[in-house]
Amino acid sequence: MTDLTTPDDCTAKQTLHPLEFVVEHLIRSANAISKTNRLALNDALNATLSQDVSSTINVPPADNSAVDGYALKREDWLEGKPLLVSQRIPAGSVASSLEAGTVARIFTGASIPQGADCVVMQENTKVLVNERVIILQRPTLHDNIRPLGQDIKQGNTLLKKGQSLSPQRLGLAASIGLSHISTICSPRVAILSTGDELIEPGQPCNPGKIYNSNRYLLNGLLQSLGMEVIDLGVIEDKLDSTVQALEKASACADVILTTGGASVGEEDYIQCAIKQLGSIDFWRVAIKPGKPFMFGRVGETPVLGLPGNPGAVFVTFLMLARPFLLSMQGCSEIKVSPYSMPLGFDIRNPGKRREFLRVRIDANGVLQRHPNQSSGMLSSTSWAEGLAVIHEHSQPQAGDMVDYFPLTSLINKPSS
Ligand code: AMP
Ligand code: MG
Repeated sequence: MTDLTTPDDCTAKQTLHPLEFVVEHLIRSANAISKTNRLALNDALNATLSQDVSSTINVPPADNSAVDGYALKREDWLEGKPLLVSQRIPAGSVASSLEAGTVARIFTGASIPQGADCVVMQENTKVLVNERVIILQRPTLHDNIRPLGQDIKQGNTLLKKGQSLSPQRLGLAASIGLSHISTICSPRVAILSTGDELIEPGQPCNPGKIYNSNRYLLNGLLQSLGMEVIDLGVIEDKLDSTVQALEKASACADVILTTGGASVGEEDYIQCAIKQLGSIDFWRVAIKPGKPFMFGRVGETPVLGLPGNPGAVFVTFLMLARPFLLSMQGCSEIKVSPYSMPLGFDIRNPGKRREFLRVRIDANGVLQRHPNQSSGMLSSTSWAEGLAVIHEHSQPQAGDMVDYFPLTSLINKPSS
């Protein structure tokens, strides 16, 4: 990609790379995992299909009743005429052919007996003694019959390679009798947090320390996408420790995600370490929050260097790491289309970077932003229902339509 330049040295300041170019570059750089795995359906939630799935059967496999009632041949009906109930067909049983001039007691899901062409709901009948029943209303042909193959036709392709297995799709696979399904192995994603100030939750937070929230944020985001997480803990702010940690990560993972240390401060070593072990494709993206994002390689292993500020980790994961990781996972449904929603406030000044505001839809159906949009804040991400996009150099005012991504469609595995 010609637009993306590599820093000449570890501390070189680069121009900001436009978001679209960066996402395109990331998707093109992601090598899909080729290993496949046959999984039991209950273990396959969020996995990606490695091949199309076709049905070898019709669903339902036979015409069956949609109600509890009586099956009959419509022309046997006469107003007020008692009809003999000649058989009883509960769901799961095999029906005999219907005797001419009689009806069959039938239950929801039971097969329609040969010779019957409609089912009357039990509410529209009057049961007499001596196994007889009067059908109170004139039945209509095919009434209350669910025809064979109404849901799925034999031979139809139901699911496509690259689709994610949502609960609905697992149910669909089960409905055609599959107990196992062929999936693409999840990428093994190593996560590393950097920062001497970090302390783990559960430990006392001594002066100078802060709790490591990124580690747990990333773990959750990755699990939501069905990734295999290899949590390699915290790297101290030293070049040799960073180099060692990245080497170790590249030996056991398909991709590495780091947080923090991605800028060019004296205590930021990610960029230098990646350069020692491999190369950097680009650093710094024109988004807010999340500018110091970098992408490179340690040997053959791709590294996504996320910023340290937790709010920026959240946004860069969803907008940059997510499409990369889903591409590695062989996922065909990467792009999330934004909704158009009215803004509930004015943007004071146009920015140079594309801004992702943490917002909610209020009772009037307009977007309201969290009052503190600082990249260091996680409370705004927990409060938000979505991200509103303010394009660079634009200054939308209250009532103007902007792009809006619901967080559910970014955080969860795609299923459409
Ligand atoms: P850095 O990019 O390393 O300079 O970090 C930027 C900011 O993010 C600093 O205030 C860090 O303390 C904070 N930070 C970095 N890593 C984490 C983490 N894992 N959890 C919470 N905050 C972090
Ligand atoms: Mg740091």
